[in-house]
Amino acid sequence: MINIQNLGFTYPGAATPVLSGLNFHIEQGEIYGLLGPSGSGKSTTQKILMGLLRGFTGSALVFDQPIENIDRSFYERIGVSFELPTLYLRLTARENLSLFAALYDKPTRDPMEILKLVDLADAAEQRVEDFSKGMKMRLNLCRSLLHDPELLFFDEPTTGQDPARARITHELILRLKREGKTIFLTTHNMAEADEICDRVGFLTNGNIPVSGIPADLKRQYGRPELEVVTTGQNGVHKVRFPMENLADNTEFLTTLRQSEILSLHTQEASLDDVFIKATARQDKAP
Ligand code: ADP
Ligand code: MG
Repeated sequence: MINIQNLGFTYPGAATPVLSGLNFHIEQGEIYGLLGPSGSGKSTTQKILMGLLRGFTGSALVFDQPIENIDRSFYERIGVSFELPTLYLRLTARENLSLFAALYDKPTRDPMEILKLVDLADAAEQRVEDFSKGMKMRLNLCRSLLHDPELLFFDEPTTGQDPARARITHELILRLKREGKTIFLTTHNMAEADEICDRVGFLTNGNIPVSGIPADLKRQYGRPELEVVTTGQNGVHKVRFPMENLADNTEFLTTLRQSEILSLHTQEASLDDVFIKATARQDKAP
């Protein structure tokens, strides 16, 4: 669906490049998450692939076509939800969607049906200026679905949303995947990426040093541990032991025999751990 090779980009007038040699691909039907701290170039990467930024180096194919060659029909096939909502504040939610729907050549979906998907049906007749930031983000997402596109770009789709609303957005994204859509999302929220992405790439220093399936990365970079919480004369203590060869770990066995155990928990590596290790490795590289 998307194939990027050696992608580089510098904003006009900037001293240093934002992207310097990115390589990644996105398969049809998958949810790909580009992760990285604020300012790492996630939105820039997406804007290049939407055909909004010119002057990049390397090769960027979307739908097997070089992005330089796209025409109007490209925008009938992609849906975009920008980081900052692009909506008419004086209009209601439904009026916004009807207006944007009119821009497409192909038939569009019923705005009310889409508003229901993100729990905004009750707010359909409210002016967007009265919406919270989270509501605007969800309406922004609706906008990208009007023309039923096959490839979706979601830039930080759960910004400003409480956990319950974020869950609604996650469910919507997973539902889109079940319908066969391809989703390219960006996030700085590692837990979110872990929950919904099939594959992720870590963007740091203009590059993607590590990418893969979240579960594989956690296994590869993380070291599962057992956290033991004990209590005794000196108060409560937490100790962590590697899961590997636990039965031969004398310190662990002594703890079990000699302390009163409050709890035992296995600790899986998180994507945060992977990110910290991956970026530390890159910093050490020449
Ligand atoms: P992210 O989405 O990961 O937070 P961005 O792609 O928005 O990162 O930005 C990457 C870098 O490019 C930042 O240092 C940002 O300040 C810079 N940048 C973003 N947009 C512009 C622009 N229009 N002109 C110049 N620099 C920009
Ligand atoms: Mg961004």
